Amino acid sequence: MNLQNYLSGDSVAGTGAGEALLDPTTGEELARVSSQDVDIAGALEFARTKGGPALRQMSYAQRADRLAKIGDVLTANRAEYFRISQANSGATEADASFDVDGAIYTIKYYAKIGRGLGEGKMLREGGNIPLAKTTAFAAQHFLVPTQGVAVFINAFNFPAWGFCEKAGPCLLSGVPLLVKPASATSWLTHRMFMDLVNANILPVGAISLLCGGARDLLDHVREEDIVSFTGSADTANRIRAHANVLGRSVRVNVEADSINSTILGPDVAAGTPIFDLFIKEVVREMTLKAGQKCTAIRRVAVPRQHLRDVGDAIAKRLGEVKVGNPRNAEVKMGPVVNKAQQTSCWEGLRQLKGECLVVFGGDEHFQPIDADAKRASFVQPTLLASEDGLHAKYVNDVEVFGPAATLVAYDSLKDAVAIARRGLGSLVASSFSNDPEFVRDLMVGIGDLHGRIMVVDDSVGTQYTGHGNVVPSCLHGGPGRAGGGEELAGLRALGLYHRRFVVQGPPSRIGDLAAMSADATLLYS
Ligand code: NAP
Repeated sequence: MNLQNYLSGDSVAGTGAGEALLDPTTGEELARVSSQDVDIAGALEFARTKGGPALRQMSYAQRADRLAKIGDVLTANRAEYFRISQANSGATEADASFDVDGAIYTIKYYAKIGRGLGEGKMLREGGNIPLAKTTAFAAQHFLVPTQGVAVFINAFNFPAWGFCEKAGPCLLSGVPLLVKPASATSWLTHRMFMDLVNANILPVGAISLLCGGARDLLDHVREEDIVSFTGSADTANRIRAHANVLGRSVRVNVEADSINSTILGPDVAAGTPIFDLFIKEVVREMTLKAGQKCTAIRRVAVPRQHLRDVGDAIAKRLGEVKVGNPRNAEVKMGPVVNKAQQTSCWEGLRQLKGECLVVFGGDEHFQPIDADAKRASFVQPTLLASEDGLHAKYVNDVEVFGPAATLVAYDSLKDAVAIARRGLGSLVASSFSNDPEFVRDLMVGIGDLHGRIMVVDDSVGTQYTGHGNVVPSCLHGGPGRAGGGEELAGLRALGLYHRRFVVQGPPSRIGDLAAMSADATLLYS
């Protein structure tokens, strides 16, 4: 099966043998993709000149209605997406749900909140600013949808959600998109995308799909375009430094990797409800999607006196997790996405093992259930421990993008803060503690280097959304190593697809624009 590109309103085959998409459980080839020799420059121009104007003719509310229809189409095909996710990503039912249901929920969320922007075509920001002694001359800020195209370059681990979490605010803004999924798992994005094309919900040119390598894509982006990248910090740096991107000041949003931490408060001892929640959360983060989540817990900061109890409790639970072929109903954790990722995990684990104790797992020859270990891409869940994690060489820098985490002992609040900050900018940190002062000082100490902090205490109990769960109403992104980008956060996310400008002139002319604008304060409500 060759998965074609969809560019300039048509399916387009790339030339050459292309790249193979594999089943990471069996090693079997599932499909091929190629972007060789396709006209990317033409596709971007088609999106700008056909898709963009057609989208912007509609109001926010009309586009929200289209998003609702997209949500319905995706819901109707959900079972097929789960099947593809299992085959191409080695996903268990829970893994597939995290990606696919997360995608559908996010689209429906933007459909719902987008209606609140009503019939506006742009956004009016703040009040009228007097600039003269009389009322003859004033100023007003506006946010207007960009007339460019949004280019989504996505990571392999969220082929469904990664596409939809960006498509929701982008299409609601009236901006056409071109999505380039990671080649290895592009089948699911391709299938969802073609379901939307066949349902004929959006104007021609509103959505485009590039399957296979990015090739000359970045040579053709322009001043009014947006590049929204999710993936590794190395690729992010290459994209940021691209001559055309730099030369034209193309807006770039980056969500990169992140060495996230969770912190157990000194007040929490074994045998308490919050201790149990903490253990459950760490194990869930390590094993869901085989640890291939940008938000997953990589470092587990634990008061030194509780290190052994925490290690024993996590190891016990990890020992109960059945790892193997996701087609087996008993299996709770599948493989990582391919052999390259397996090798990369093993390399990272070897570095970590050089300076940490292995508390659980770490066996490169372990036998998964119902799978041939040689052909498959499994990584055994692995828990490590470091007595002096803050000063370790690799613990704070190496992201093992798989089912692995490191316990890091700490002695004081100051240490705990320093450990979380040593991630040099993370998507998320969480704290499990009933000590209000500890939690407050922790939040103050790390807030500037984190996009999100999740706080759990006895008053929350089991009602929290999850350390690794990204919800569309809240900010996703993080500073520094995490890329510095911002996504989601409800309607705030529309900011990426709009440009701010100010009109200085007679109030009547300002009023003409204001009359076709929704109130931008809705973005923050
Ligand atoms: P990656 O190797 O950086 O690839 C990401 C995307 O960039 C893929 O679509 C890839 O295409 C493309 N790409 C590679 N080189 C490029 C270039 N020179 N120009 C333009 N595009 C290029 O990352 P990955 O291995 O797919 O994803 C894993 C990483 O993503 C992890 O480090 C994880 O932490 C991070 N991640 C972050 C978030 C977040 O929200 N912060 C979410 C998920 C994942 P090909 O596949 O065709 O090579």
